[in-house]
Amino acid sequence: MNPETILHCLDCGHDHPYTPKQFTCPACGSAWREARYDYAGLSKTILSTWASRPFAIWRYRELLPVRKPNPELTLGEGGTPLIRAVNLGMMLGCPNIYIKDERQGPTSSFKDRQAAVTISALKEAGITEMVVASTGNVSISYSAYAARAGIKLWAFLTSLVPPEKMREVALYGTQVIKVTGSYDQAKQVAAEFARQRNLFLDQGTRTITSVEAMKTIAFEAAEQLSWLKKDANGFPLPSPDWYFQSVSGGLGPLGVLKGFQEMQTMGLIGQIPRLGIIQAEGCSPMVQAWQEGKEIATPVSPRTRIATLATGDPGRTYTLLFKNSRGGEGAYFESVSDEDAFRTMHILAKMEGLSMEPASAVAFAGMIKMVRNGIIKPSDTIVVNLTGHTVPIEQFILGENWSRSVVVPSQPAAAVAEPVPQEGLLAALSHVTRDRFPRIAIVDDNPEVRRLIRRILQAQGNYTLSEATNGREAIALAQNEHPDLMILDLMMPEVDGFGVLDALQKNKETAEIPVIVVTAKDLTKEERERLKGHIQSLMQKGDFMSDELADEVRSLIG
Ligand SMILES: *Cc1c(COP(=O)(O)O)cnc(C)c1O
Ligand SMILES: [Zn+2]
Repeated sequence: MNPETILHCLDCGHDHPYTPKQFTCPACGSAWREARYDYAGLSKTILSTWASRPFAIWRYRELLPVRKPNPELTLGEGGTPLIRAVNLGMMLGCPNIYIKDERQGPTSSFKDRQAAVTISALKEAGITEMVVASTGNVSISYSAYAARAGIKLWAFLTSLVPPEKMREVALYGTQVIKVTGSYDQAKQVAAEFARQRNLFLDQGTRTITSVEAMKTIAFEAAEQLSWLKKDANGFPLPSPDWYFQSVSGGLGPLGVLKGFQEMQTMGLIGQIPRLGIIQAEGCSPMVQAWQEGKEIATPVSPRTRIATLATGDPGRTYTLLFKNSRGGEGAYFESVSDEDAFRTMHILAKMEGLSMEPASAVAFAGMIKMVRNGIIKPSDTIVVNLTGHTVPIEQFILGENWSRSVVVPSQPAAAVAEPVPQEGLLAALSHVTRDRFPRIAIVDDNPEVRRLIRRILQAQGNYTLSEATNGREAIALAQNEHPDLMILDLMMPEVDGFGVLDALQKNKETAEIPVIVVTAKDLTKEERERLKGHIQSLMQKGDFMSDELADEVRSLIG
């Protein structure tokens, strides 16, 4: 059983024990309070306590405001994998990008942590009915846990929430109330409804359990990194240099930052990571305030297609983030366009096998932007929260031509039971396969690079690919197979890239093959001169995105 969680009032400093039924400080009436625990007492044994339990959210129960975790409520929340972004890392020249895959929570978003802890606390306190307003995922997650706990849930959703998400909420038996208006307005309507009926209202960042639940992302990430490497300064757990998240109301980063701060207080980690807080350009009040050095954000009217991120008024949450990150110094706020997010969503799916909702892609787009403009160092360790899975609403993102059809010839009615003749099937298939695909030779001595380029080309077009692992093989391949394009590395054993170019030029049959050089080498002036006129394009390893290479290829072979 947990000792009591103490709440510390952020306005008058009064300390009082936590109970979910009390929304405000008994001394001054403020709704802004912070949970505190006996860190000194816990610090001695905490790591071995954690290690003795399964890797899931309740492993951290001493630092959560629930007295006794209820095994009957759990849906397997927390304990999500930390996945290294191998291909993205190679493209960006940042090998230490890790993805916290929160899609693997019970309802496929990181809101499951918040729902699990909040509903557990409410159940413990005997609460049986509650109200929530959300941009979608909170309602889905609360609905699942409320169903298990026997709590009636009223979900106020803005009409911008995709109908698929609304139906999922309703499926769990939640009463859905559509509010035609913004998310901020939906929150107001929900608050008024809860007040009139005297029901428990989820208050976002003021809900103690919600902030506390998000800390577990920090705990897990540090533990998971410790299984991969030791801390450089000898602390028990390594901490990343950056934590990235797409941000709407800011609950996630507020909780995660608190998690890292608690670990530092207990002597577990040596540094607090910087927060990479990324918003959609059309709804970025925090970014605007931070760029102006302000501690209070001015509300905006959201203009983004990414409904999940449409909090126009972050209120005091922004101010807390600003203060808690050393006056904004421990954070970097950035915004990206919806189009950037959609494009990045494609890249992550094609290059890492991770399908995410556009809201999650916003964080990746921002991180990529910051690598490319030098704010993130190549040696930095980065944890990006993959906040949620895509739902099949994103049709407009794929555009036309995303599938090809095979029409099997129809059979005479009498012969329905007969198997379709092979010839008919094959003839139908040949419609897809008879195209002659452009042939591309990939020349690089590094198998990882060959795999990356192969993957980029496979994912973005139909090509017949061949590979050569050194210059000598490349020359032979060019002469025998006459590829339509060669993608060439410069530094290779035996014959290097310059040697390959010379050999191709000397032979009339290969002199016309277009060449894209992809190199990790910083070229000298002489080397650039040597390449001039002999290659069509030069790309730097670690500084091109998959679709840029694919565009280049398409422009050369049509
Ligand atoms: C809620 C949510 C966000 C934004 O998180 P906050 O910490 O509340 O700003 C981002 N992505 C997804 C998928 C979400 O559900
Ligand atoms: Zn107070």
